[in-house]
Amino acid sequence: MRPYVFDKTKRRYCYLREGGRCFYCGKPLSFGGGTLDHHLPRARGGPSAVYNLVLCCRACNREKGDAVPPDWEGTVCALFSRAVGDGALPLPPGEGRRLSPAVAQGVAGVRPWSEGLCFFGPAFTAWCDGHRVTKVRYPPPRRGEKRPPDTPAGGGRTEWEEDN
Ligand SMILES: [Zn+2]
Repeated sequence: MRPYVFDKTKRRYCYLREGGRCFYCGKPLSFGGGTLDHHLPRARGGPSAVYNLVLCCRACNREKGDAVPPDWEGTVCALFSRAVGDGALPLPPGEGRRLSPAVAQGVAGVRPWSEGLCFFGPAFTAWCDGHRVTKVRYPPPRRGEKRPPDTPAGGGRTEWEEDN
């Protein structure tokens, strides 16, 4: 897999969000001295978006490798909420006023889909790729719904019926 070149906006946002400290060990880092880690590894479908990137020191990044953190869902849900609240995640035109309050009500979970991650809560479902929120639906998928309606045929790995 090619090394990912982070754009400065994402790096700056993550640096400020983490308070200039390694997300994993808390070590203080200079702006240029830290790395960005895909919390859910790219190899497991983790996108290069601010809700899946954390600032960390090189040692922690190396040690973590391609491991999937046991609590990755809770972490990326929290980072997604934060990014929406901060206005750091581009939204579809006109969705800012509607999605932010919906997200504030809580993010209940996250599932991989073919192009990134799909977040959902009691009041919304948001499909996000590595750059932005691509689609939002209110309310979330109903029980028995197999896949997000806009997932390309055959491309989704999401199983919507696995819980309840
Ligand atoms: Zn560290």
